Amino acid sequence: MGRQRDNVFIKYYSLIHMKGLAGKIAIVTAASSGIGKGIAKVLVSEGCSVYISSRDENKLRKSAEDIKKETGKDVSTIPCDLSKPDDVKLMLNEVKKKVGKVDFLIINYGDPRVAPFLDITDDDWDSSINMFIKSTVYMTKSVLPDMIAREYGRVVFITSLTTKQPLENFAISASLRAAVVSLSKVLSIEYAQKGITFNSISQGYIMTPRLENIARRNAEKSNISVEQAYEAIKQTIPAKRFGTPEEIGNLVSFLCSSDASYINGTNIQIDGGFVKFPF
Ligand code: NAD
Repeated sequence: MGRQRDNVFIKYYSLIHMKGLAGKIAIVTAASSGIGKGIAKVLVSEGCSVYISSRDENKLRKSAEDIKKETGKDVSTIPCDLSKPDDVKLMLNEVKKKVGKVDFLIINYGDPRVAPFLDITDDDWDSSINMFIKSTVYMTKSVLPDMIAREYGRVVFITSLTTKQPLENFAISASLRAAVVSLSKVLSIEYAQKGITFNSISQGYIMTPRLENIARRNAEKSNISVEQAYEAIKQTIPAKRFGTPEEIGNLVSFLCSSDASYINGTNIQIDGGFVKFPF
């Protein structure tokens, strides 16, 4: 069944290609599983040269192997802990040394601590501020001068539904990701005439290892089965299903394509209708 799905995936991407993606250099962070991996899979299928990064070198290598199995294409790996801004600088220097430029910077993040406000420690805040704010600033600063010189670039920030619909226990996610969305807007205004676009994505519930953890935690707390916990979340989503990492990848690849060159400074929800606010 999984194999069959993979073959369909390869066939689909060998027939349809987004405009302006082939041969471009893309970095996708936090990509050893879930959403980041799905984005990398789609971009490499579209003909991009993709660098994936995340903390754990072994998990990263496994992710690259999985992507190769599913798409027939190689991605390069480069370890980097987003909560350590010095790591981020080293990672970007290495990519630039190897390939000289970055066309698409796709900033996906690890999971911040999810807990009641008073249980969140100063260390939790510090490492999340490093990941969401400092690393975002360093990565963007590092690629921007070259993008300006070439008058071309795409930066996409992968945030969360919490930017539109803050939830209890999500103080870090809701507050720091909102800052990322605002930063994206400011950058889009400052560099609009340089051929660079900045957009952010607010995804809803996507089927990934992280969602699996949430379902397990909910099941334990409410003394129900994991299947029942999944079902309870699904019932809150108008589409009555979870999104897939590849659906996020498809949106990223569209935002990076030449068809999306006039889409700038926007925050796009992709959540099966979860967030009810209309604007
Ligand atoms: P996931 O657990 O499947 O993947 C997270 C990835 O981040 C892994 O590759 C992990 O190695 C990497 N990572 C974690 N901490 C890191 C760090 N400090 N530095 C570098 N890499 C790190 O989770 P996912 O569901 O793919 O989530 C990706 C992002 O999207 C997270 O920020 C998550 O909170 C957010 N998000 C997910 C959902 C969902 O339903 N899956 C919904 C809204 C927001």
